[in-house]
Amino acid sequence: AREWHLAATPHGEPTPGDFRLVEVEHPDPAEGQVVVAMIAMSVDPYMRGRMRPEPSYAAPWEIGEVMRGGAVGRVVDSRSPDVPVGALVLADAGWRDVAVLPAREVRVLPALDDVSPTHHLGVLGMPGLTAYAGLFRVAAFTPGDDVFVSGAAGAVGSLVGQFARLRGARSVVGSAGSPEKVAWLTGELGFTAAFDYHDGPVARQLRAAAPDGISVYFDNVGGEHLEAAIGALRVHGRAALCGSISGYNATEPPPGPRNMSLLVTKRLTLRGLLVGDHGDLRDEATAAIAGWLRSGELVARETVYEGLEAAVPAFLDLLRGANTGKMVVRLAPD
Ligand code: NDP
Repeated sequence: AREWHLAATPHGEPTPGDFRLVEVEHPDPAEGQVVVAMIAMSVDPYMRGRMRPEPSYAAPWEIGEVMRGGAVGRVVDSRSPDVPVGALVLADAGWRDVAVLPAREVRVLPALDDVSPTHHLGVLGMPGLTAYAGLFRVAAFTPGDDVFVSGAAGAVGSLVGQFARLRGARSVVGSAGSPEKVAWLTGELGFTAAFDYHDGPVARQLRAAAPDGISVYFDNVGGEHLEAAIGALRVHGRAALCGSISGYNATEPPPGPRNMSLLVTKRLTLRGLLVGDHGDLRDEATAAIAGWLRSGELVARETVYEGLEAAVPAFLDLLRGANTGKMVVRLAPD
């Protein structure tokens, strides 16, 4: 079997030399363990945070450790009555083609004929729950809201915008990093308006896209986007702070929004969001999302890189915006 290890702590943007592909002999499963042949693995922005030496909401990864992350696979050997051979499972298996895992650390997935296993890493997985909990609980979305979402063509953002539209938003505005992404948002995804944040100051572009302001902001980007959204929020506006990817490779703390006094004058609510706090919504979210997928109302696009060798390029390209929708790495056919 093969697996990717963290080889060095990146300074700024990670480089291929920060990772090492290692051949390993995996042990036979002990009592209570299963062997999983991976079908697909996820690369996600949060992984950049774990590569920092400073502690965060989760412990940092050590040099020489296997890169962690969500993956789906099929059980090929089992010493647990709960997880039979042949089961499709989701686990924090890391960047590897085969994993030996405690059965209690894998989740057996329902066999859904019409759903690609990769969707369990995206629309039906962690990013889907993030979008659902962030919009409906943390930002307290209600029908009629005017919503702005940054990182709108990504895994979480593309779902946030669509969920808002499907639940009766008055308008949905998105920002993303290329003309193709902007065209996809206003075309196939049905956003009211979208802009490329490279085309000029975010505040100016947001004002043009939402001249009457916004009532909800879903923040995936931070920095200039957050400042612009604080400016555009109306009285009693709400924001879910989900991520700040514009600063993930920064070597110095990025400057904060300069217009924080507007939180007072407009009585704004800005709330942080960690998906791990919202597991109680998983069944509700899965039911709603699966329904929208079945009816064809929800688009769940993926950008797929092939093979374990492609894990590092997929991760580096994710941070640079090469993905539209969820970035996944395919390791084997279903
Ligand atoms: P995405 O699929 O959105 O991929 C990341 C995207 O970020 C890229 O495609 C790129 O798109 C964009 N990006 C990169 N650099 C910049 C920049 N400087 N300014 C603006 N956009 C940039 O990833 P996810 O959907 O998985 O994650 C989105 C956000 O949600 C991240 O901030 C992530 O950390 C956060 N998150 C938080 C969770 C939580 O529990 N709080 C859980 C899951 C995700 P573009 O071409 O548009 O630049």
